[in-house]
Amino acid sequence: MSMTEEVAGQVHLYPGIADTHTHLILWQTKEMEWKTLFQTCVEGGLELALDVGTNTDTFQERLAMVNQFDQLYITDGLSVSKSELPQEDLERRLDELEKQVAANVGGGKLVAVGEIGLDNHFEYGGVERQKELFAAQLDIANQFDLPVVIHTREADPDTYSMLAGAKLGRGGIIHCFSSGWDWARKYLDLGFCISFSGNVTYKKSECIQEAAAKVPQDRILAETDAPFLTPQKVRKYPNWSGFIGYTYDCIAGLRGTLPEELAVQVTRNFKTLMRLPL
Ligand SMILES: [Zn+2]
Repeated sequence: MSMTEEVAGQVHLYPGIADTHTHLILWQTKEMEWKTLFQTCVEGGLELALDVGTNTDTFQERLAMVNQFDQLYITDGLSVSKSELPQEDLERRLDELEKQVAANVGGGKLVAVGEIGLDNHFEYGGVERQKELFAAQLDIANQFDLPVVIHTREADPDTYSMLAGAKLGRGGIIHCFSSGWDWARKYLDLGFCISFSGNVTYKKSECIQEAAAKVPQDRILAETDAPFLTPQKVRKYPNWSGFIGYTYDCIAGLRGTLPEELAVQVTRNFKTLMRLPL
């Protein structure tokens, strides 16, 4: 059996469910045929998914993919790992980002700038270069009145102070939230939504689970970050949007609600943030 068939056999979704962060082009690297599998998701009730960018040079390819399904939306951005590129190269890519955003904003598919942020787990180009790249993209989001999708790893104090200082018009999403409730509350105070990924289902995730239980219902989101962070129950496979139901089961359990109700709520939260028709 192919990997595509294997993972499709474990699909777990609810009607109207959303996956607020995935990387379709990376599904392919795990031998998962993205189009077949995304069609399986749509048939299983997936109402929307956000395909998140990490580099401008894949934007056109991703846009062509996203244009094949009404349920798909897209972001554009340079991830923190790009801060290790030579300065000239980085400047060229920032120009490219601005042009791509300008050409696609208001077109219905491009809804945010991201993923952008800071990462102290991996050094990449060092703290200062990471901050410069992050700041430049926060400016682009503000310039085009778009929300941001934030990656922050072992970097909450700096991420928080930069977001607070950026005076963002639209706020955004703290993606793959992996800190505790104290940080969640601070990001919530800045107007952000908090998105939980498959790592909330892991045994050693008590802090994340506490946050997932406490985030107000109009600010909670759920994502796969596929092909990474597969939920515990199907952890032997690479992740894809068809597994998002396992994460909803876990979060709904923590919140004392039903996954079906959480699905409706998350979809509404995402549409509100992205100004999509409800
Ligand atoms: Zn991601």
